[in-house]
Amino acid sequence: MKKASLYRKNADGTITCTACRRYCRLHPGQTGFCGVRTFRGEDLFLDVYGLPYAINIDPIEKKPVLHAYPNSRIYSFGTSGCDFACKFCQNYDMSQRREMIGIEMGPDEIVRDALKRGCAGIAYTYNEPTIFTEFAHDVGMIAHRNGLFNIYVTNGYETPESIDMISEFLDFATVDFKGNASVDFYRKFMSVPDPSFIYDTIRLFRDAGIHVEITDLVVPEVGDNLELAAEMIRRVMEIMGDEVPISFLRYHPDYRMTIPSTPVETLMRHYRMAKELGVKYAYIGNIPGMDQQNTYCPSCGELIIRRDFMKTISVNLTADGKCPVCNTPIPVAAGKYHPMRQSAVSHGGVS
Ligand code: SF4
Repeated sequence: MKKASLYRKNADGTITCTACRRYCRLHPGQTGFCGVRTFRGEDLFLDVYGLPYAINIDPIEKKPVLHAYPNSRIYSFGTSGCDFACKFCQNYDMSQRREMIGIEMGPDEIVRDALKRGCAGIAYTYNEPTIFTEFAHDVGMIAHRNGLFNIYVTNGYETPESIDMISEFLDFATVDFKGNASVDFYRKFMSVPDPSFIYDTIRLFRDAGIHVEITDLVVPEVGDNLELAAEMIRRVMEIMGDEVPISFLRYHPDYRMTIPSTPVETLMRHYRMAKELGVKYAYIGNIPGMDQQNTYCPSCGELIIRRDFMKTISVNLTADGKCPVCNTPIPVAAGKYHPMRQSAVSHGGVS
């Protein structure tokens, strides 16, 4: 636990947490919606500071970050709690947990462990990192000093205040939409009042120079509306242009949602529509063996990156990042490791 920074004191003795768009207004002793930020004494405290709940080494493709450093090993962790309450959450054991348990590890220890295990970057994932921004910030700053890059896998409910802090250390963000960004879906199945804030987050990430990729979890029957998907894609493209990677992800039944998994044809309809709308790098995720997880040159159709289920099999780019057939620049950072990583390997410790 540690005193938080993202909050303001109100004249009536309450505190407003400014970490996420819920802006919870708390009375003394109260904890916010996410379950990890508590008004104690005079201040707001982050109860999961130094308390990761799950730690794994994942491929970067699992985040998914598809257009940077293929096959990088990513030290991935999350904590208890979440500011969303998705009925289909695959990590509900962590995200909906309101008991503050985990592995006691401070920022130094996390970075040291990531370096020891040969990772190129750190991902703040599994639950929503925005709720533990101050902890992520301290890890991320040390990670940068030691040549590791930082990835957020986020629901996009950040505030301008938290993005100010995040932009000091964040390199990549995968912003996850669900149910085609349908307002009804967000309200009914996720207890989230207004997904439109997510577009503001994407814009602020872009302005902060953070590499952004987009996913949309397509949930059949209740979160599968092509018109709404088209609107979401257009809004994302207005902000990010036509080179932003957009992945349509297969949903699987979990937690309180029993609807069967998304049919492949449903995902294909989304994929084809994204292509028709001009998305150059559309993908289908969570299904092994599909061509639509590969990167193709948008000009000549050459296969640029072949993947199979969260793994890059081959990269076919010129040294300066162009299609080898027609010379179209492909926005992929293709080095195996972040360039800064090399210096971390050479000095071998945490600074
Ligand atoms: S981070 Fe948690 S406490 Fe803060 S506004 Fe969001 S849900 Fe509320």
